[in-house]
Amino acid sequence: MTKIKDVITFLESFAPPAYQEDYDNSGLLTGNAAAELSGVLVTLDLTEDVIEEAKSLGYNLIIAHHPIIFRGLKRLTGSNYVERTVIKAIQYDICLYAIHTNLDNVKNGVNFKIAEKLSLLNPKILAPKTGLLKKLISFVPVANKENVLSSLYKAGAGNIGNYSNCSFQLEGTGTFMPNENANPHIGKANEPEFVTETRIEVIFPGHLQRQIVQALRTSHPYEEPAFDILLLENENLETGSGVIGELHEAMDPEAFLKYLKERMNLSVIKFTRLLSGKIKKVAACGGAGNFLLKNAIQQKADVFITSDFKYHEYFDADGKIVIADIGHYESEVFTKELICELLNKNFTNIAVVLSKINTNPISYI
Ligand SMILES: [Zn+2]
Repeated sequence: MTKIKDVITFLESFAPPAYQEDYDNSGLLTGNAAAELSGVLVTLDLTEDVIEEAKSLGYNLIIAHHPIIFRGLKRLTGSNYVERTVIKAIQYDICLYAIHTNLDNVKNGVNFKIAEKLSLLNPKILAPKTGLLKKLISFVPVANKENVLSSLYKAGAGNIGNYSNCSFQLEGTGTFMPNENANPHIGKANEPEFVTETRIEVIFPGHLQRQIVQALRTSHPYEEPAFDILLLENENLETGSGVIGELHEAMDPEAFLKYLKERMNLSVIKFTRLLSGKIKKVAACGGAGNFLLKNAIQQKADVFITSDFKYHEYFDADGKIVIADIGHYESEVFTKELICELLNKNFTNIAVVLSKINTNPISYI
């Protein structure tokens, strides 16, 4: 039996809610996550039609990329589509779950799916975030070092890229004097103690701090383990916005646009003046990505694929890059596939269906 919260826990291990942007509202929006799951419908947007689709399938969880509750709702009277959609979900007892900028910001998320569609080589995060990593330093009697480290690794510490169990260790002397109320692992009350300890250092994602400290406290033999937690300025290369990678072979700009159109199933591309060189390095960002144009230029991308540029912002291409605006829906529609693949890889016993409804509010003529 799978519960709705099992699906949520899995998704949040892949795209932690802590990685969403400040303005976002990812997470469970309606419903009771403790309920037994009857099936998952995956959509880009939530609309009343999508809620009806889930109901007709008999499914009680809809996973959407865009959160329908984005700003505060002050009343639920059905006066607009947001209120009506939320009311309908609650009436039908359907959980609405949004996985938005946290899925944008992880490796193998929304933007890496675009890279996959374009068969880009060596995809990397275009603008890695800083301030997400922390370091734990603690001091452990030599004999207990391996045990403490292994429990820290289990809790999520010590991972750097393709490497796990990363630590630094240095032997030194720890000193302390227990008082009469202490229950020391080593030493006696009111007698100064000198112990050979290993200073251990491990890096960890900041949002795991509580479980890392708990792992330290439960595995460390001391009553009062000494430790420091430092916030690091380092970039976290696994987390951030956009993607950059390379085409297998450089293409003429016109040929590339045709390729882009085919691979992303587009009817329209809006693009800036084509440059004389070939296209080899490609940057992309699903959804509104204008804030990443400078990163794409800095990293010498030949083209930046995204959406929602305004008229004056196209001028910022400035002969340095080609901006290709492919539409918000079109740039993110394969996110549905991504969510579906993730769930199917991890759960074998649940129904996961892509919504058949095209929720794009824009048509072209
Ligand atoms: Zn979007």
